[in-house]
Amino acid sequence: MKKLLTLLLVIAMMATMVTGCGTKEADAPADGAALKIGVLIYKYDDTYISTVRQALEAEGAADADVELIMNDGQGDQAKQNDQLDILIEKKVDALIINIVDIGAAKSAIEKAQEAGIPVVFFNREPAEDVLKAYDKVRFVGTKPEEAGIIQGEMMAEVWNEGGYDRNGDNVLQYVMLKGDADNPEAIARTEYSISTLNEKGVETEELGLQVANWDTDKAYAAVEAWLGKDAEKIEFIVANNDGMASGAISALQNAGYNSGDEAKYIPVFGVDATEEAVNLIGKGEMTGTVKQDGAGMAKAVFALAKNAAQGKDFLEGLSYEYDETGVSVRIPYQAYK
Ligand code: CA
Repeated sequence: MKKLLTLLLVIAMMATMVTGCGTKEADAPADGAALKIGVLIYKYDDTYISTVRQALEAEGAADADVELIMNDGQGDQAKQNDQLDILIEKKVDALIINIVDIGAAKSAIEKAQEAGIPVVFFNREPAEDVLKAYDKVRFVGTKPEEAGIIQGEMMAEVWNEGGYDRNGDNVLQYVMLKGDADNPEAIARTEYSISTLNEKGVETEELGLQVANWDTDKAYAAVEAWLGKDAEKIEFIVANNDGMASGAISALQNAGYNSGDEAKYIPVFGVDATEEAVNLIGKGEMTGTVKQDGAGMAKAVFALAKNAAQGKDFLEGLSYEYDETGVSVRIPYQAYK
């Protein structure tokens, strides 16, 4: 009986402690959260990035210890630099940076280091030596070549189903929509999609390549121009992202393609598995995409930044692992068609 009473007393004490904690958290206003994490997004108006941003906001909203201070760089590095300065003045505990211009990462890191603030970069990847210049910097992203490899494997499968060799020369004639001239993701996707096709035994010929800056309208204009001169020759359209794939499909549809008539269908492949691309694939107007796990990315970015904000090791208590660089975490891709 005494033992039971002691036990009950202990339980009652624990309950009081837990309730005490809970009450304190519940009463704290959002801006009274213990940890402030400044978030710089390259631009809200990017389909894939907006899925990551929303998932990140959901992580923040679900964690009473963390306040995320969100910023839209609007694709403008000068604007993002100002936002960074303000976050540093606010003495945030950690920074999450989706940098506009990879070339600006070095100075952003120098500012963070001077203020002693840890940084988690994501999606747009600064060079390894730049990341390593400050020991409190990590990167969460994808493996640049993986999206290209998966896209190439998917294209080889579709090609081998037959019916797409319009001129019957046993060579795949394609046009390529490249995201950016210098971005490592764009370079790797462009290269590995085609080299994977070739490794799978598919001979290829590039009819055209356009740097369309990940942009739907620019891709539309490029495909419209290609259709104007080579409409009969194009067998596949390859895009580094779904935003450009969607522009390509609009241009195709405007010229009477990909609108239900099987004889007038040119396969289009993208990357990201945006909601729009998934819908287009569902309607049979687009062929395939490569899924970036936006929610998985946000979860990792948030967890690393929260650890760092508390002065812990970035990976403490987490199941992520660094790749061979020792500072980057890679979230895997999947095929979607
Ligand atoms: Ca051909």
